[in-house]
Amino acid sequence: MVFSSAADTIPGSSAQAAKPLGGNARTDLLWPLAIMGIMATVILIGGVAALVFEFDAGSLQREQGGVSHGISGRIDEIEHLIVPRAASDEAVANLAVNFDVDWAQRNIGLYLAQAEGFDAAFVLTHEDRPVLASLNAKVEPVEAYADFAAAARSLVDTVRATEARRGPVRTTEQIRANLAAPIQASEIERVDDATYVLTATLVQPDFGAVLIEGPRAPIVLTAMAIDQAFIDVFADRYLLQGLAIQQRPPGAWTDLAQAPLRNQDGESVATLTWLPTKPGQTLLNRLGPPILIFLAMLAALVVVVYRRSLTAARSLIQSEGRATHMAYHDALTGLPNRVLFFDRLALAIDQAKRNHQSIAVHCIDLDKFKQVNDTHGHPAGDELIREAARRMKAQCRAADTVARLAGDEFAVIQIGASPASAAALAARLIEAMRALVDLGASRVLVGCSAGIAMINDGDITPAEALRQADLALYRAKHEGRGRYCFFEMEMDTAIKSRRQMEADLRQALANDELSMVYQPQVDQTGRVKGVEALLRWQHCERGSVSPSYFVPFAEECGLLGELTLFTLRRALADSCRWHGLDVAVNISAHQLRRDGFADALIGIAAELGVDPEKIDLEITESTLLLDDSHTHDTLSRLREMGFKLVLDDFGTGYSSLTYLRRYPIDKIKIDRSFVAELGHHADADAIVAAIVNLGHALNLEVVAEGVETVEQLQRLVAVGCRDIQGYLFSRPVDAAEIDILSQIGIIELNHQAA
Ligand code: C2E
Ligand code: CA
Ligand code: CA
Repeated sequence: MVFSSAADTIPGSSAQAAKPLGGNARTDLLWPLAIMGIMATVILIGGVAALVFEFDAGSLQREQGGVSHGISGRIDEIEHLIVPRAASDEAVANLAVNFDVDWAQRNIGLYLAQAEGFDAAFVLTHEDRPVLASLNAKVEPVEAYADFAAAARSLVDTVRATEARRGPVRTTEQIRANLAAPIQASEIERVDDATYVLTATLVQPDFGAVLIEGPRAPIVLTAMAIDQAFIDVFADRYLLQGLAIQQRPPGAWTDLAQAPLRNQDGESVATLTWLPTKPGQTLLNRLGPPILIFLAMLAALVVVVYRRSLTAARSLIQSEGRATHMAYHDALTGLPNRVLFFDRLALAIDQAKRNHQSIAVHCIDLDKFKQVNDTHGHPAGDELIREAARRMKAQCRAADTVARLAGDEFAVIQIGASPASAAALAARLIEAMRALVDLGASRVLVGCSAGIAMINDGDITPAEALRQADLALYRAKHEGRGRYCFFEMEMDTAIKSRRQMEADLRQALANDELSMVYQPQVDQTGRVKGVEALLRWQHCERGSVSPSYFVPFAEECGLLGELTLFTLRRALADSCRWHGLDVAVNISAHQLRRDGFADALIGIAAELGVDPEKIDLEITESTLLLDDSHTHDTLSRLREMGFKLVLDDFGTGYSSLTYLRRYPIDKIKIDRSFVAELGHHADADAIVAAIVNLGHALNLEVVAEGVETVEQLQRLVAVGCRDIQGYLFSRPVDAAEIDILSQIGIIELNHQAA
């Protein structure tokens, strides 16, 4: 099975970052906008429609009211027109007391037709028998009433009923007391093809000069056709346009407003139609175009907002993608970073467990990255890292993960690895890093070391896997860099005891468990010239721990600064106790290279009132090996202050002579190994003699250390080395003993040798 790519594990990896806006996101955006747009449109259109409808309906109602008022008003007028004709003493005399047909025709038929526009007039006797029929101002045979008889029936009945209730007008008092109001009834009815206002009016006196004899009076029945002329009278008054009468009940006439004309029984006998004003429609016509423009603008706005939101959402998703990519990748190399590395390692361990595979975790460290960074600058350091990343990636398969964990620390997850293939990959990586790296202005050789942890067990955590690879790397570096090492269990134990040691050393520094001892330096006669300050750590379990072990250890675990302050302060303070004795202090390469070392030393000397001339600084050739300007400056500065420089372990380094010329050295200390060989190897005497001669030639003092025997002493003296340090004269002792020695001033050799 192939190891999943990052896209499977970490959200928003590069594969996802480029992903376009999904369909869901589009609809998610579109829907609310569309709904808002539609709602706005519906509300607007609905509102306008409701307004238009209400306006139009209100107007129609008003117009219909106008029509019915017009009709009823006309009927009232008609009734009033008849009253003077039928309700008068003269009418009583000529119609009831005696029926005078001429009078009737002249005053009723003809008059009403010509003066008032009635179409027909009839006079009925008290028995409701027609005695006059006048149609269009002409007297017709009374049979003509037959056409109207049926339509007039109910009207006549109504009038008779009212007459019966009131009774005939018999006295003038009745009239004077206004108790003789005219009795009339009107209705709209159809006769043949026309619609008429039929009015029945009871004949009665107006002044009472003549009275009705019997119980019933005659009735005058009139008909006025509801024609165009009839309705025109009120059409103008009520502002009704195109008012017309249709001789049929209301129906579906488009665009026309209608009002039915009903008879007494409520049946519609004809319909009035007119062109409704429709103010709503007018309003709509006026508002329509602006509303359409507004809706178009709304639609455009929705589109613009949609587009903008879409773009905004897109760039948001993109920048989110970029941010996630940055969160899981190293900006400099583009490689997965520590977070993604752990994620993938967890997944790889999981898959390896299921597939019964092994994986290898490589931890790789560039060997000289810090130096390149310090001497060539950070841009060069960056380029070196980028080039290292390229080379490492080129050596790995696509399924493997190459990650940058920190600084110059890389890691590789090798899927399906055997110890052999892991070793092969590590060798290839180291080989690839061996080639010269072109940094533009310069080319450097760096190289790298690798630690490998084989993982066959699915229960290991990614952190533990990396820790093991890291331990193996540590071992590889210690074994000489440019190589790889597999993790082994005992490294763990070693590291654990180191960790314990570190804790102990911290505690020792805090609890003042460290101390200084001093080893005298004498001339051949035993006269004490100076002492070398040597650090001691009395460990509660391990006993006395050698500084050659714990000083480098302090360097590694960051305790060197404290250690330096302790030794300088103690040695310089003790030096004040011994007049005439020089005190040599050992300074490791790391101490010397630390920023502020010279300041600290000068500061302590000034504070304690120590004359720098009394202090020898013992440095080794390895300190000078790098030949960097910082070291050079520090040493020159200290020398100018008066401190003396001693080259320790002389002869064990590389090109001793070069350093002696380049640096302001005052004294060389012949290494113990040469002294130990004196008398055993013929060469040894020659070498020691050469060193002594060289020193004297360069005007340097020469001291030999590790002198244990009288023979060694004699041979040294023989070649001209007169300053001696070693067990032969004294082991390192504590300050109190040096107090005494400084008083005596000489060590008796015979006594000591025994
Ligand atoms: P070194 O500077 O070469 O110190 C001399 C070492 O040789 C001392 O070991 C001393 O005890 C030992 N020695 C002296 N005379 C004889 C002798 O006749 N025979 C033999 N076999 N050994 C003799 P020590 O004290 O264990 O120091 C070991 C190294 O630790 C020193 O080597 C020095 O490099 C470093 N060291 C000691 N004290 C300090 C310190 O305060 N600061 C720093 N930075 N390094 C220190
Ligand atoms: Ca020394
Ligand atoms: Ca030494």
